[in-house]
Amino acid sequence: MADFSSRARDIWSARQAAGAYLVVGLTWIVVSDVVAHGLVGRTLAELWTDLAKGSLFVIVTAVILYGLLRRHLRRLEVAEQARVALESRVTQVVESLSEVVWAADLTGERPPWVGGAVEAVYGVSPEAFRARPDLWREAVHPEDRPLADARERSVRQRGEAEAVYRVVRPDGEVRWLHDRARRIDDAAGRPVRLTGVARDITAQKVAELAARHARLHDPLTGLMNRAALVERLERHFDEPDSRGLGVLLALDLDGFGAINAAHGNRAGDQVLSVVGDRLQAALDDTAAVVARIGGDEFAVFLPALADPSGAVDTVREVQSALARPITEVAGEALVSASVGLAAAARLTDSGGALAEHLLRSALGALSRAKVERGGGSAASAVEDVAASAREVRLRVDLHHALERDELFLVYQPEFDLRSGRLLGVEALVRWQHPTEGLVPPDAFIGVAETTGLIHGLGSYVVARACAQAHAWLPQMAERPFKVWINLSRVQLQRPGFAAQLIAEVDATGVPHARVGFEVTESAYADDAGPVRDNLDALSEAGFGLALDDFGTGWSSLASLRTLPIDVVKIDRAFVSDLSPDGPNERLIQAIVGMSHALRLTVLAEGIEAREDVERLVELGCDVGQGFGLGRPGPVEAVEAMLGSPTPMARTALLASLAAPEPTDQGPGHPRR
Ligand code: C2E
Ligand code: MG
Ligand code: MG
Repeated sequence: MADFSSRARDIWSARQAAGAYLVVGLTWIVVSDVVAHGLVGRTLAELWTDLAKGSLFVIVTAVILYGLLRRHLRRLEVAEQARVALESRVTQVVESLSEVVWAADLTGERPPWVGGAVEAVYGVSPEAFRARPDLWREAVHPEDRPLADARERSVRQRGEAEAVYRVVRPDGEVRWLHDRARRIDDAAGRPVRLTGVARDITAQKVAELAARHARLHDPLTGLMNRAALVERLERHFDEPDSRGLGVLLALDLDGFGAINAAHGNRAGDQVLSVVGDRLQAALDDTAAVVARIGGDEFAVFLPALADPSGAVDTVREVQSALARPITEVAGEALVSASVGLAAAARLTDSGGALAEHLLRSALGALSRAKVERGGGSAASAVEDVAASAREVRLRVDLHHALERDELFLVYQPEFDLRSGRLLGVEALVRWQHPTEGLVPPDAFIGVAETTGLIHGLGSYVVARACAQAHAWLPQMAERPFKVWINLSRVQLQRPGFAAQLIAEVDATGVPHARVGFEVTESAYADDAGPVRDNLDALSEAGFGLALDDFGTGWSSLASLRTLPIDVVKIDRAFVSDLSPDGPNERLIQAIVGMSHALRLTVLAEGIEAREDVERLVELGCDVGQGFGLGRPGPVEAVEAMLGSPTPMARTALLASLAAPEPTDQGPGHPRR
């Protein structure tokens, strides 16, 4: 409307319009009256009268028309002036904003429009933006393009959206923008335009990042601090594809206190900062993450190692980087580091729990290394790490050992030392490791206990041993035969363990009287609480209970009286070294005396020499177990013994004790 009126005004002024009307009107009056005069034959007076009337009418209406047009055009002009003034005020406001105001046409009819501030923010003129509609996307930082694209999609779909992203100016400077956009629809609801305001939030963002950096970094070395390391570890373990082991090395500078004392704190700070630089330089081309987690404590995180032994190389690199004298300090300083290693793999735990656990374990390993070796040489640190790497490997492998069915049981016979009768067998677990070969229980029971795997392992042993005992039932009908199973203190500490164990035994159908459990003295140390409750429940359920390795722990003879046990197993340390009237013999006598007074059976463990059997009988031992009587062996070996028609007489037992075959060690062992 405004456009049309200004065009009309350009072509016709009010005066021209009225003048044209006057000319056309008068011409028409004159021509039509003269023609009518000629045709009708009027008088001249009539002709003049008609001409005067007509002309007067045309003149009067022309004046009126002129007046009306003038008034209208005047109004239009005033409105137009107001519009122009408003537009220029709006433009001034938009141009004076520090925000970039923009509009993008969706109909394809007009080029995009951007406010002048774009030049200050993007470093590109508004004209350039108008000329190249894709320029805004090209200016977005490549890493943030997905963000900006998502904002674009969402404003088109939802009508409103905002995003924070970076743009890169042609001079390379990076700016942070907060961009809020809206979609404008026409009356029919069709999207016609996107408009938006982008605010430059670089200063705020830089301050935020600086605060974050300060929160997560150590100001002295510029390395990550402890909080940042934990965050990094959490992120690692929370990633869905964090498959490998996360290995963490904790380092502590040996004798750093002495450097501080000798050269002062400033020199100490310098040493720390050099150490930080060297660690970072040494591990620069690896995925390792270096952090300073305490005064003179550093940490190196090795994400996704296939094998923890890879960490040994890192320790060597770190040690050799630190070995060079630190010349930045007056009088030079020499440092070395003690190292503790821990590893974790995401099997079940959440990332947060694992991160904390890993850091604690690495620091624990570090303080053990410090205590055991008093810090010291680089070689000892490498040894420490190699040893814990092996343990970590074992721990991870043990996780899979149950699933992969790598565990099996062997059975060691126990004989009545007087009659030579077979009284039972002890089930002993073995691990056929795919690469390490046969691993003895002493090498992994402790690991199973600290990792909690002992519960699964224990259930496995109970199920296997009891199923085996059940299978032997027909052969043991006439004998007081039991299958003995070792329990760990960790298992017994679980409230309700006995009930679960009884259910597991019952699932195999073997009578309780045919099963016994061995518990070491140390488990009884917790004489109250769940351990005692569990033992009482097992005793009440009719299982045999044996006190294993007696004499190695706190060996309280009084405990024999109060504990619910049937058998005392004297540790092989006392049995293996018998000399007439020596301290071991006297100790055995004391244990036998006390046990018999309490009606407990005494078993001598670890009988290796046949000659000792006579002596042990004289000392009062009832039952014997040991390589000299029978090595732990496969089911078949036990079945051969069970199959013998009559209980062996003692002499026969002794006579049968030929040099025993080693059957339980070595990978070729038949598995059960
Ligand atoms: P333990 O319960 O005292 O088992 C006896 C250990 O002494 C066995 O070692 C056996 O092979 C060994 N031994 C038997 N006779 C002789 C001998 O004459 N001379 C010598 N030098 N050793 C003899 P093993 O099988 O290596 O088991 C070691 C320990 O591992 C066991 O000691 C037991 O505490 C633990 N263990 C074994 N199997 C299991 C299990 O299934 N569960 C739990 N929790 N612990 C188990
Ligand atoms: Mg035992
Ligand atoms: Mg024992």
